[in-house]
Amino acid sequence: MEYCKRCVYPANTKPGIVFDDEGICSGCRSFEAKTIFLNQVDWPARERKLRDMLGEYKDQQRKKGNPFDCIIPVSGGKDSHFQVYTVKEKYGLNPLLVSYNHTFNTPLGIRNLTNLVEKLDCNLVRFTTAPGSAKRLAKYMLKKVGDVTWHYHAGIMTFPIRAAVQYDVPLMVWGEEGFSELMGMYNLDDFVEFTKKKRQEHSMRGFEPEDLLLEPDSGLTRYDLAPFFYPADEDLERVGVRGIYLSNYIPWDGRAQAEFVIEKLGFETAQARERTFNIYAKNDDIHANGLHDYLKYLKFGYGRATDDASNEVRHGRMSRERAIDMVAQYDHVRPSDIDVFLKSVGMAEAELMALIEPMRDPSIWRKGSDGTWRATDSVVNHRDDPGIEQARLPLVDDNRPFIRTPEKPGARAQRDQNQTQYVLL
Ligand SMILES: [Zn+2]
Repeated sequence: MEYCKRCVYPANTKPGIVFDDEGICSGCRSFEAKTIFLNQVDWPARERKLRDMLGEYKDQQRKKGNPFDCIIPVSGGKDSHFQVYTVKEKYGLNPLLVSYNHTFNTPLGIRNLTNLVEKLDCNLVRFTTAPGSAKRLAKYMLKKVGDVTWHYHAGIMTFPIRAAVQYDVPLMVWGEEGFSELMGMYNLDDFVEFTKKKRQEHSMRGFEPEDLLLEPDSGLTRYDLAPFFYPADEDLERVGVRGIYLSNYIPWDGRAQAEFVIEKLGFETAQARERTFNIYAKNDDIHANGLHDYLKYLKFGYGRATDDASNEVRHGRMSRERAIDMVAQYDHVRPSDIDVFLKSVGMAEAELMALIEPMRDPSIWRKGSDGTWRATDSVVNHRDDPGIEQARLPLVDDNRPFIRTPEKPGARAQRDQNQTQYVLL
């Protein structure tokens, strides 16, 4: 396997990574181009544009007598805290927070969502999927595409649009626009907005709920799929629904924002993570996220530690050598939430592994004569490849530690309890 000479991504990274003549991956190159571009952006002008736009929507809603100036889709994570703080405290809007409850929650996720609503004193609408529906959806999509979190993404990407129509609130404010970057087509200039198509392609693996209803073997009903049906065009037009991304208007630094919401708003980090060193991200549903990420590892031979370490390398906050240590420490780890998931859906581990087997990428996995799967290569074997020194970025902030917030009283007991079951509400 070929590995990037700058970061730690392998050649089979999704979606479609390519290497240039210097052995540097398209992700690293697109990050470089983005950095140059972002440094040239007239941020004060963009911020004025944002301020004017928010002001117009606020005036329009208040003239109508509508109590909500905009909608903010939230999970309760660090981005949610930052979005709501910015919109409410900085720009003075009264947002309606909208949240989708996938039901595979951790106590930490619930505490952070509660903290968000309390600290920023906001109205929240939460759609809770029936637990049985969540299990059927996770199980079916696991078989279909090897993903237990399809309903998470479908829910958070659709329910806010339904709420916008229902509450007659045209403006949705999202956080970071990440799709263009993923595809290596950074186009901040276009001020891209939320679309049904992008949602379906990038978050829902191409499936609308209508497609799942038509699958003869899905057994899913309209009731199971209720929050995922996209509103009709005429309803969207009547309300004038649009979704903007804050990252197109204000400089976006995920790590700095996490540190800001920890200090300012009491956002709580994880104490430790099983599959990565990054304790800030994806805390709301560590459980299924651990499994979700482990499935990626079983399919493609790399996981979240590769993602997080590559990101740190690109920011100049971690050396490639240290990044390799992180991959070696975390990427192969079997997360304990597998047991919680299997118990929840009533499935044996052997059945899960058999489902994933045909999805294993043969360019990295080989089945031994004893029936066990082994990775045929690892970035660990590519510490000293030729060209590494030439590809190296200067370290600006070597291995800066992540802030860990003190564990709340009673949190440990909740965590232990959560080793056996999900938290519903
Ligand atoms: Zn790279």
